[in-house]
Amino acid sequence: MKEVMLIKFGEIVLKGLNKKRFEDMLIKTIKQRVSKFGDYKIKSAQSTVFLEPVDNSDIDDIVTIISKIFGIASFSKASVVEKDINIIKEKTAEYLKRELSNVRTFKVEAKRSDKKFSMKSPQICEEVGGYLLEEFSNLSVDVHNPDFTVIIEIRDFGAYIHGISEKGAGGIPIGTGGKASIMISGGIDSPVAAWMMAKRGVSLTAIHFASPPYTSERAEQKVIELLEKVSEYSGKIKLFIVPFTEIQEIIKKKCPEELFTIIMRRIMMKISEIISKNEECEAIITGESLGQVASQTIQAISCTDESVSMPIFRPLIGMDKNDIIEISRKIETFDISIQPYEDCCTVFVPKHPRTKPKIKYVKIAESAIEWEKLIDEAVNNSRIVMIES
Ligand code: ATP
Ligand code: MG
Repeated sequence: MKEVMLIKFGEIVLKGLNKKRFEDMLIKTIKQRVSKFGDYKIKSAQSTVFLEPVDNSDIDDIVTIISKIFGIASFSKASVVEKDINIIKEKTAEYLKRELSNVRTFKVEAKRSDKKFSMKSPQICEEVGGYLLEEFSNLSVDVHNPDFTVIIEIRDFGAYIHGISEKGAGGIPIGTGGKASIMISGGIDSPVAAWMMAKRGVSLTAIHFASPPYTSERAEQKVIELLEKVSEYSGKIKLFIVPFTEIQEIIKKKCPEELFTIIMRRIMMKISEIISKNEECEAIITGESLGQVASQTIQAISCTDESVSMPIFRPLIGMDKNDIIEISRKIETFDISIQPYEDCCTVFVPKHPRTKPKIKYVKIAESAIEWEKLIDEAVNNSRIVMIES
């Protein structure tokens, strides 16, 4: 029996004129990701992608990868058979034998998108349901709350038999939301922020500030591992590791201690903006969440924003830590994030950071330093690592 995968598009079915572009992007991503696992024939119609393994390729191998592609609402393995009601009946009993043998109640749902098929949906349900009742003595029908639902879809390409679909990753296809750079630390928040923007179709570039020898090589490795997890959803990510030691030491030497964090964050932003422009990114993403720490008050955030002209996306701004942690567990970054490697932000932490900095005083403090050369050097000396899951 031929087993295929049916993939249903998500929000993109709503996108009017853009629909074609969205579908093309999604199909391109699906093709690219499954190609690592084997040979699969791909066709699409009526907001559904049909994936069929060729030769020795297997549908089970690609379930995990499909579950991580944004733009997919749901998917299911299915058996495809000829559009003949007798064949459909027999093959349903055969294909879903294991499931149907292990439950007590069931129902059949039919969807007839090929209107040329002679039977209407209620009739298909009746025929298939009646047959299954005869074949499986353990079964009875419960249309309201069945243990198992058999779904029969009569489509142009054939009749598809399957159980309830699995939920897809949701969101919109990568690449349809433009390109942005994620400022990534080794913490819990920034990988989640990256994942959330990727879910809205954004392709990612990443920027990490490292301060060796205060921060170790292991801390950089942690960032790479975090991005590998994110890239299972977002696709490949170009990571810039920016040397930040000299800048931090100069700030520490020349600026008032209580403004240290805010000035450091402003310089990180300026460097990120330059790298972002070079990489054709149109926005910067951070993992900030309002009120979490001193640099994440409204006043501190507005001082940070003032340093650049590019939009800054903070998808976690209104989220509680617990909700952020829940996502980080789901995307498997949590266990990596909690490994105890120092971040450059935690190396020079002032004892009493200003929680409501005034931009006027921040700028006066900053004027003690000749920034241009330092910033150029940091950009030019950054190292690139290509991340692909
Ligand atoms: P995270 O869990 O992402 O580290 P956080 O709650 O610890 O966030 P901060 O350490 O104040 O908050 O950092 C706020 C944001 O600034 C981070 O989410 C990240 O986007 C960015 N950031 C912090 N440190 C770095 C770094 N070393 N390199 C790049 N970006 C950083
Ligand atoms: Mg942090």
